Amino acid sequence: MRDIVIVGAGMAGLGAAESLRSAGFDGTITLVGEEKHRPYSRPPLSKEVLTGRGSPKGVALRDEPEFDALRLDLRLGRRAERLRPAERAVELDDGSALTCDGLVIATGAAPRRPATGLAGVHVLRTIEDAEAVRAELEAVDRMVVVGAGFIGAEVAASARALGVEVTLVEAAPTPMTRVVDPRIGAALTGLHLDHGVDLRLGVGVTGFEGTGRVERVRLADGTAVEASLVVAGLGVETNTGWLAGSGVELAGGVGGVRCDAHCATSLPGVYAAGDIASWPHPRYGGRIRLEHWTNAGEQAAVAAHNLLAGEGARQEYAPVPYFWSDQYGMKVQLLGQAAPADTVEFVHGSVEDRKFVAFLGRAGMLVGVLGLRSTPKVMRYRPLLAEPTAWDDALAAAGR
Ligand SMILES: Cc1cc2nc3c(=O)[nH]c(=O)nc-3n(C[C@H](O)[C@H](O)[C@H](O)COP(=O)(O)OP(=O)(O)OC[C@H]3O[C@@H](n4cnc5c(N)ncnc54)[C@H](O)[C@@H]3O)c2cc1C
Repeated sequence: MRDIVIVGAGMAGLGAAESLRSAGFDGTITLVGEEKHRPYSRPPLSKEVLTGRGSPKGVALRDEPEFDALRLDLRLGRRAERLRPAERAVELDDGSALTCDGLVIATGAAPRRPATGLAGVHVLRTIEDAEAVRAELEAVDRMVVVGAGFIGAEVAASARALGVEVTLVEAAPTPMTRVVDPRIGAALTGLHLDHGVDLRLGVGVTGFEGTGRVERVRLADGTAVEASLVVAGLGVETNTGWLAGSGVELAGGVGGVRCDAHCATSLPGVYAAGDIASWPHPRYGGRIRLEHWTNAGEQAAVAAHNLLAGEGARQEYAPVPYFWSDQYGMKVQLLGQAAPADTVEFVHGSVEDRKFVAFLGRAGMLVGVLGLRSTPKVMRYRPLLAEPTAWDDALAAAGR
């Protein structure tokens, strides 16, 4: 293996490049990224960058000497348009083609955008998005956030920290319902209410109105909310378009590229990692895809290892998933997995205290540990999730 191409210069792309070099790979690594920036961290965008506590310049994932030491053939501001599997060639948007012995797909995901054509309606994924929203937050008194997933919730919290009046609209009955049980959702509802958010739950958005710029948001219950700034947190679509016709199999259901337990795609020598990769996790009984910062780095390391390793030396990717979100100065953390139908047992604290640790169970097994303002306790239970642990044994470990 002499030439490796990595498409996508985010956390997963960087992680793959670093892992290849630390494994001693001395050939050419070409890193192709559609954005003009060197790899940067997205989590601060909705937190420190929006509130002004951090600058967009501070989000780079590595300093220049560290990044330069990777000796990458860097193609920033370049989009991969197509993968030609027979020649192992990645076609770029400038008409050039990169041939390679190995390929890592790390093209992540892009936010769903409401099709309004109006100024003042934003999504939040890139540095440019964060700069635009930050500038608008300085100029407005009130805003609407559409969607109370974790991005929407963090934007609402950052806007409240700046004194902006926020209406947070969510079609589901509680925030973050895609992943958590309504009782935990109720705790998250409480956080928004405690901080003066006008929370509209169980109601969808039917339209955005205004002349040139958004002026109001219409809701399905017939009401309208005046706002000249809207941020939509409506989830993402994986960036798989450039793989059409390549033979790289996509996953139905959870979406993204279909990988096996070793992060390998359906084409030999082609691996995937990060938000774009779905794979069968041995402890969760099915195919999963994570949109978690920590996963992007960990999965890229295993994909890179397996790309270089021989058949017998490949590693299975079976991490303890980890996700965090910062809202109103409080940390929400999830180890493992969460789904709305999971059994929930609060093992420390309570929703009323706005401080708790909850165990999440499925089919008699512990599958997740979710905490609010409880970092040391959450982390203490990580070993229970690294191996299959029966629900009763987990509760016993927590002294229940
Ligand atoms: C505002 C925000 C806050 C977040 N906060 C948290 C948090 O608190 N905790 C947490 O765990 N996770 C958080 N996340 C999620 C986390 O940032 C993602 O899981 C992580 O960025 C995924 O990394 P990735 O490299 O797989 O994909 P991405 O970060 O999406 O990077 C993929 C890159 O590939 C590029 N690309 C796409 N298509 C092409 C193409 N055809 N050719 C070339 N380049 C292409 C994209 O432009 C992009 O730069 C947050 C995300 C956002 C947006």
